[in-house]
Amino acid sequence: MKKNNLVRMNQASGKKKLLSIALAGAMVFSVSPLLTQVTEAVGNGPGYGGNETINTSILHTYDEMVSYLKTQDAKQQGMELEVIGQSVKGRDLYLVKYIKNPENPTILFLTQQHGNEQLTTEGALEFIKHLGTGKMKGVTDGVNILIVPMLNADGAMGDVNFSLEDYIASGDRHLTRYNANEIDLNRDHVTKIQPETKALHENVMQKYDIDYMIDLHHQGAQSERDGKLVSGSILYPTTENVDPDVLLKSKQLGAVVFDAVDSTGWGHIGKYNGGSAETISRNGIAVEYGISTLLFEMRGMSDHEYEPYVLGQKSNGYLIKQTITTLDATVRAISDGSIENKDISFWDTLATQTTRPSE
Ligand SMILES: [Zn+2]
Repeated sequence: MKKNNLVRMNQASGKKKLLSIALAGAMVFSVSPLLTQVTEAVGNGPGYGGNETINTSILHTYDEMVSYLKTQDAKQQGMELEVIGQSVKGRDLYLVKYIKNPENPTILFLTQQHGNEQLTTEGALEFIKHLGTGKMKGVTDGVNILIVPMLNADGAMGDVNFSLEDYIASGDRHLTRYNANEIDLNRDHVTKIQPETKALHENVMQKYDIDYMIDLHHQGAQSERDGKLVSGSILYPTTENVDPDVLLKSKQLGAVVFDAVDSTGWGHIGKYNGGSAETISRNGIAVEYGISTLLFEMRGMSDHEYEPYVLGQKSNGYLIKQTITTLDATVRAISDGSIENKDISFWDTLATQTTRPSE
């Protein structure tokens, strides 16, 4: 998997595009090069526009992620790594656990149900590293943390039974929303037919006493709130079948995230315009297990066939940081109990994001 510093010109949509300046192989195994770009302000953050680098080689491959998790597992006493099942193509699916006291409240972070939404996983991996350092000292005394990274491992690796030839990104692989069977895993939370959703439900949702869940995704790159492009959008369960207390705690979870991210200067959060279907984890998991859920959609996808959905990698830094900030703020608020006093009135005035009209 050697990568040279190649500059490739690619013809797509009739436009000449400078697509890839691949990183040297040694850098690929670390998240840190991505984090050097945090300074990009979101409102002015680059879109794709046909002239910016979109290269998937900078992202962890599935194998690199597994190796990273095993390294952290060997280093961290408080961490446990468990295989919860296999993808369609036979890739082991992982659960990362920090459980000091089963009586403590538990939060689950889920990433990459959609394989082309990878910066959430990059952020989760970095957060796992933080959990092994002094920065997080004492936090896991008051909260149990479960992380399922890259649930759709086959889609993330582009190892699927359908064509990705129209996808935009350059690099070693394409990433797609769907699993290998071309099924959207986030529409499979009622029937649970796909092996990935089955593994999640049988070996995580049904085995652990989970109080909160954040389901991490990416949305299109052109959403705005109050005239400014958003760094992401959030939403609580919106099915009428959700228990009022579960809903209240979901909104409090959202309040923690909003306060932590929207105040950063680079963060700008809108309300996601979501439906009531219980096939979606945000709704289905809240109803089936009484878990308070939050959907967090980060700006821009890692790959897609539709240009306005993808985002150049100059934005990677703040989007990864947005994930780390979200995970960090929520575990701290649950650990110290402050989440229970969180004011949810901001939801009443938070505007639903809209799509910026194309020029
Ligand atoms: Zn998604």
